[in-house]
Amino acid sequence: MQGTALINVNIITVDKDDRVLENAGMIYDTEGTIVAIDTSEKINLLAKEENIPLEDGMNTYVFPGLINTHTHLYQCLLKGLGSDLALENWWPSTIAPVGLALREKHVEAGVSLGLLEGIRSGVTTIADFMQFHPVKGFSQLEIEKAREIGVRMIYGRGFRDAGNDPRLVEKPEDVFMEIEYLKNKYENDDCMTQVWLAPAAVWGFTREGLQKIRNYASSTKTSIMMHMFETETDNLVCREKYNQDAIEFFKEINLLGPDLLAVHSVALEEHEIQIFKDFDVKVSHNPVSNMYLASGVAPIPEMLKAGICVGLGTDGAASHNDNDMIETLKTAALLHKVTYKDPAIINAYQVLQMATINAAKALNMEDKIGSLEVGKRADFFVFNPLKSVKSCPVLNPIATLVYSGDLNAVEKVVVNGKTVLDQGIFVNLDEKRILATAQEMALDLIKNAGL
Ligand SMILES: [Zn+2]
Repeated sequence: MQGTALINVNIITVDKDDRVLENAGMIYDTEGTIVAIDTSEKINLLAKEENIPLEDGMNTYVFPGLINTHTHLYQCLLKGLGSDLALENWWPSTIAPVGLALREKHVEAGVSLGLLEGIRSGVTTIADFMQFHPVKGFSQLEIEKAREIGVRMIYGRGFRDAGNDPRLVEKPEDVFMEIEYLKNKYENDDCMTQVWLAPAAVWGFTREGLQKIRNYASSTKTSIMMHMFETETDNLVCREKYNQDAIEFFKEINLLGPDLLAVHSVALEEHEIQIFKDFDVKVSHNPVSNMYLASGVAPIPEMLKAGICVGLGTDGAASHNDNDMIETLKTAALLHKVTYKDPAIINAYQVLQMATINAAKALNMEDKIGSLEVGKRADFFVFNPLKSVKSCPVLNPIATLVYSGDLNAVEKVVVNGKTVLDQGIFVNLDEKRILATAQEMALDLIKNAGL
């Protein structure tokens, strides 16, 4: 057998028994499948028997790759723009003008930067909601960039079928055709690419448009990611347009289901949480963005209590100002502790689960990713606290990652068995050039947007 063996590591499996294996090792094959996890000694013997090259982890910590369930990668060019505004002002003043000015060169630069930052923060899977398509070709460009850089991507083809600006409005049928093309071209057994429907939000759609989305999703088994209940706006819009609360409207048009990832879910009350649970709707929780735009606090402890599957996300860098999942881990924990004035309301391990196995469940990919187990994809990162003043020393690796985690300690990142970051250096990428291009393209974009 060919593959790679990693020994002398501590493995935080996040499996169903929550095992943390000290002095352990693992082997993954060239196809990117984990074929063995055991004591370091046994892995050492097995690797020697099979002639598999050995890598000494030097007592570092191996975590499942983090899964970012929501971002807008192109927004990595917008860090620092549109600060200190509420969602309803931030959108028309910043996001919409930029969206219209976006061209391929900006998307390429922003996506590349965001993928790099994701990798540096231990991310191996990103669900990206690409919301603007003022010219054709962004979808292929972005998917190919993710494949080239080597990050697993759930690509959400964003769109809207209503709004004041016709340049931002698309016919659902045209989008469905593009999705079909993308699925045929890029979805295959390596699971590096998945294509989803990404309707903007209820305010960006007609009733008919959302009904078409549900029909297309069900008939083609295409999942849906959609901004929902980010603020009270969903309810206000639905009451005005449809004379009913948003949850009732979503129920009526059959939008709710296990293939729906409801991004944000901040403005949810108890009965809406119950309806989400009844329909097995998944939730993407984006605490930094919700705090940045002052949207509110998503009732995550209540959702977890109700048994709703919650995955963690950064949201775009226009409302997070970076794409750092490690920062998001800590923020998620602290936000709920202080909101409920209860330090035990959510613990470090629950937050890690939201960024790994529960994020995988939220993306309906738990049979492939989200934990380190035999048969799953080799998606992981190696955390070395000796590379970071912030993270050293380690007394509890999970607490260290969540509360003292640092990008400098993310020493190695492997996606689908392929090493993308090694010894803190990108294997096949010119990081300096990508950063310089991002700076240049950010200035070019805001100039073109007239900001
Ligand atoms: Zn978003």
